[in-house]
Amino acid sequence: MMDVQLTVPLMMERAEKFFAKKKVISRTANGIQRLSYGEIGRRTRQLSSILVDFGVEKGDKVGTFAWNHHRHLEAYFAIPGMGAVLHTINIRLDPNQIAYIINHAEDRVLLIDDCFLPLFEQIKDDLKTVKAYIIMTDNEELPPTSLYPVHHYEKILQQGNPTYEFYKEINEQEPAGLCYTSATTGDPKGVLYSHRSIVLHSMALGLADNAAVSESDIAMPVVPMFHVNAWGLPFAAVWFGTTLVMPGPFFTPKLLAELIESEKVTIAAGVPTIWLGLLKELEEKEYDTSSLRAVLCGGSAAPKGVIERFEKKFNIPFVHAYGMTETSPLVVLSRLKSYQSNITDEEKYEYKAKQGLLVPGVEMKVMGKDGEVKWDGKEMGELLLRGPWIASEYHKDDRSHGAFCDGWLYTGDVVTVDEEGFIKIVDRTKDLIKSGGEWISSVDLENALMAHESVFEAAVVPVPHEQWQERPIACVVLKESAKNHVTKEELMQFLAPQFAKWWLPDDILFLDEIPKTSVGKFLKRTLRDQILTHYQSE
Ligand code: ADP
Repeated sequence: MMDVQLTVPLMMERAEKFFAKKKVISRTANGIQRLSYGEIGRRTRQLSSILVDFGVEKGDKVGTFAWNHHRHLEAYFAIPGMGAVLHTINIRLDPNQIAYIINHAEDRVLLIDDCFLPLFEQIKDDLKTVKAYIIMTDNEELPPTSLYPVHHYEKILQQGNPTYEFYKEINEQEPAGLCYTSATTGDPKGVLYSHRSIVLHSMALGLADNAAVSESDIAMPVVPMFHVNAWGLPFAAVWFGTTLVMPGPFFTPKLLAELIESEKVTIAAGVPTIWLGLLKELEEKEYDTSSLRAVLCGGSAAPKGVIERFEKKFNIPFVHAYGMTETSPLVVLSRLKSYQSNITDEEKYEYKAKQGLLVPGVEMKVMGKDGEVKWDGKEMGELLLRGPWIASEYHKDDRSHGAFCDGWLYTGDVVTVDEEGFIKIVDRTKDLIKSGGEWISSVDLENALMAHESVFEAAVVPVPHEQWQERPIACVVLKESAKNHVTKEELMQFLAPQFAKWWLPDDILFLDEIPKTSVGKFLKRTLRDQILTHYQSE
């Protein structure tokens, strides 16, 4: 067979050639813009040629610091299209971490949304490698700024070459993307994606039993483009000629519901907090969401109650998926098998709340205390993965040793596997509650609490205990309508029949909100500190 290199430029070329009329619908600060793939392709080439003019060389890193919109999409293809590496930076990290990441990656040029100018003015003196800033804006002129040298995206694009030939002399193993984990512990760790891994991961997204992204879809990545490449959706969508809806800056659940209705979105992807917010909006006001064929949810566990409400109340198919920065990310996805169509509703949602089956192309092993675990849905072990879109090391980082060993990625996630092969994430190794030599899954307790009709969010964390080593404490945010009506005792009674007695939380605290990481995951360390302070002050 031909040894053809799988590279990112091929994806944009296909969109230009076959889907020039198809649209990218992009919400920016000043409203909704509609660009065709023909236009996007020309603008992408202009940006590539400008980066060449700026002296960016093959293998150099170019950072983006932006929301989901068409300019960010152009950067996604323009940077690897001229041989450089697209480094998507998480806009929600704190300024020190942002500076750390940019210096660690050695970004040469930064493409920044105009709303973030003040942040970069604050950290610019700490940035050691940046040679130019390009500001993505709808406005005619840039505001006065101390960044230097600074360029206006649209103006500089006009000087670019719309027929620039994408750089093709690329070995598919060379890097095309760079993304740092959201750093729940320690400094963020970088993962370099190769051209090949991006292409293969995109191909997997198109599989019928995976996300099944196709030309006929109208896809809305709500998951940020700085979070594991918006789960690869922008790459797959462009390649397949899929219409893209980019929700832009500072979106709200109301705005997402309106976009779904007006643009007839067929598939949307985001973390559970996004879908919790949307659910609340749909329950309060009527929208036409009938176009949706799938809501893809991952990043942290999707509560069973939420899945059920989406499907039963709103007829929106809900697909639970699992992955991590190190895995591109999609590796596990929950779809029932054909012969499972006659199971009870209860069983169906048990399965759908699991993370699901390993996608084709990836291999797994689950290692318990005494070797590989039994597939009985009970025995717990750490999930190990390998495959062509799984990282083999962290970028310039000593911490690679712990996570990558003998050709496997040690995910740090504790799972069970049932008889059908469905994986269920029980916890992260560091969040498991170790009570009296046994393990309690914080995730199971959280999901059970979130299935209660009055509960908006729940997080369960371990607190030190003299006799049992650790005990679970639950923190609950009630829905507005339930505030002051629901008691701790009522929730305890709700949990009691579902768990062994020793699993039940020692206490339930009511909070106004649960602290979250930059990508909307529960920040359990902070929560635990808050709880300890609470008990000390009692
Ligand atoms: P970080 O590791 O910094 O949180 P990632 O986005 O790479 O950033 O997070 C990956 C982790 O998120 C996984 O290792 C897993 O613990 C968790 N995760 C992802 N998807 C799910 C899911 N569907 N259910 C439960 N946990 C999930």
